[in-house]
Amino acid sequence: MNIIDIHTHHDTAQQALISTSPDIFSPKEGCYYSLGIHPWNTLEPFELSFDRLHALARHRQVIAIGETGLDALRGAPLDVQLALFKQHLELACEVNKPLIVHCVKAWQPLIKAWRETVAHDQVKMAIHGFRGNINVAQTLINEGFYLSFGPKYNPETLLATPSNRLLLETDDSTTTIEDVVVTVAKSLGVTPSSLMVQATNNARTFLGCDKP
Ligand SMILES: [Zn+2]
Repeated sequence: MNIIDIHTHHDTAQQALISTSPDIFSPKEGCYYSLGIHPWNTLEPFELSFDRLHALARHRQVIAIGETGLDALRGAPLDVQLALFKQHLELACEVNKPLIVHCVKAWQPLIKAWRETVAHDQVKMAIHGFRGNINVAQTLINEGFYLSFGPKYNPETLLATPSNRLLLETDDSTTTIEDVVVTVAKSLGVTPSSLMVQATNNARTFLGCDKP
């Protein structure tokens, strides 16, 4: 498994972790997936989708849980999102797979939920599409989280992120992962090939593929 793009919604992406809903999960050979209920999709009933997620979470090609998270600007009221996010957290602990997290203006409840989850320290968490400032980044890094950078990011934050916590992604954009690598490498002042190696190794560690 050689994943460089840690989060995409394009189901034909190569070397990528394809994020999709348990309702439409239809795995293709050689592809890897993260399954979750996006916080934007919390305005509709999601109980059945979560049951489906629970049933699929141990699938061989499902190697992460998410995209899940909290969005203060979209979706159901935050307490509803929070309850669902906690269910994802517990599921990730149960199946021992990492979490891909979306968070907009809800860092405190996110961290609180994380700390309150039993066995959370055995599961890795990546904040995808991270565009926050250095202070937020520092808090998240201190919690042990990975930060995933896509086509848009805060260059100062990128520079302050430890190289072993950095992941790359394309999300739903039309930018290719190769272009993201080139842009991020330029901001970091490193070569695209060295960044490629670093980000791939980080993805491997994050996804637990470095373990025997
Ligand atoms: Zn996404």
